[in-house]
Amino acid sequence: MKKLTMEEWEKKYIAGNVGRFDQKNIMFARPDWDEELKARLDDWFMGAKVGYDQLGWSIEERALSTAQVPLRGLMGLASHRKPNPSRQTKAFMKAMADLKPQMPGGAKKPPEDAKIDASDPQRTSSILKKVATYYGADLVGICRLDRRWVYSDSYDYNPYLAGTTEKPIGLSTPQEIPEEFQYAIVMAFEMDYDLLQYVGSAVYGAATGFGYSRMAITNSYLSEYITNIGFKVINCTTNDVALTIPMAMQAGLGDVGRNGLLVTPEFGPRVRLSKVITNLPLEVDSPIEFGVTEFCVACEKCADHCPSDSIISGDRISEPLNASNVGGELKWPVNCETCRMYWSTSKKGGCNLCISSCPYNKVNTWPHKIVRWVAENAPWMDKLLVLGDDMLGYGKPRSTKNFWNEWKPKRR
Ligand code: SF4
Ligand code: SF4
Repeated sequence: MKKLTMEEWEKKYIAGNVGRFDQKNIMFARPDWDEELKARLDDWFMGAKVGYDQLGWSIEERALSTAQVPLRGLMGLASHRKPNPSRQTKAFMKAMADLKPQMPGGAKKPPEDAKIDASDPQRTSSILKKVATYYGADLVGICRLDRRWVYSDSYDYNPYLAGTTEKPIGLSTPQEIPEEFQYAIVMAFEMDYDLLQYVGSAVYGAATGFGYSRMAITNSYLSEYITNIGFKVINCTTNDVALTIPMAMQAGLGDVGRNGLLVTPEFGPRVRLSKVITNLPLEVDSPIEFGVTEFCVACEKCADHCPSDSIISGDRISEPLNASNVGGELKWPVNCETCRMYWSTSKKGGCNLCISSCPYNKVNTWPHKIVRWVAENAPWMDKLLVLGDDMLGYGKPRSTKNFWNEWKPKRR
């Protein structure tokens, strides 16, 4: 694995002016306000419209996916350390303040003005990575906060505010991060390899959902930890405040693939990403390179498997395909519009074929490490490796017929 300098990274990925992205243009926000887009498809419903008698959609299978949602929702609501907290978060924090709940363990908390000696960023970073790992992150990296990735405006989705007769509307607010915030801790959370094979059922959604739940918990704990040692944080739960993939690349967690996702050496694209921004002085990591760009040129499996033709074949480009892409970056932009439309028309609440079909999506065992080593060091073998991946049957969706007998969940 090669470490890149920031200059080398810039040269490889930046091909023009990268304008700051407006959060209202992320694909999940656009149906809120983009009438032209909405007119192209009348059903923007995100959830599943599949009968309980369908294979993979029984009560038990749905429950596995949805059991984690309420607590995650609460964690999201409590995520107030942002430049522009949502209206629901403000209402929630006000209710909590009115309630004045007694927090157990409060007596052990350092006093308000306690502050560590942060004059050794190397030591602080090493401790912080241990803390983030202990709180649940599978990979942790640190980068300088590159303000090109910070959303120009935050977007507060249409709220569901109880007791109001007003028509809820989404709200855009200009977003700036004070200069003192110079660093970001970027974390990756592995999603369950087995569950993601059952694409097209309720079961795979449990892996995605649990990734979000773990992100919310770890972000919250890490933010509280940093506050307790006397520094400030911006808790970016969930996918808020800034674009995470370029930050994860700069923090040395992986490289971007044709599928538009971060491909990590350990888990491929089978991760969810989060970040905490801080004014705590830290030592940054270097971006890495391990053959992903060359392999993606030879591979195209995600493009072939994508049911909505949202992933392009051929070379990387720097022009955006639509408002939901960022221009100026040299990559394979994904057509999020056609992807999201497919999520609605398929009536199954989502899709992850671009993760499960990727040859980098393997368990992190030595045979797969050897294959990754070959991909990195002998790129002329890439096409053969893709062929081998196909011949061994990797990337095909699995039937949930025997799911509860087959599944051996990993202990965390
Ligand atoms: S989620 Fe599915 S539809 Fe969307 S880009 Fe990935 S493979 Fe294509
Ligand atoms: S499936 Fe192939 S082309 Fe797509 S991201 Fe993975 S390695 Fe790259």
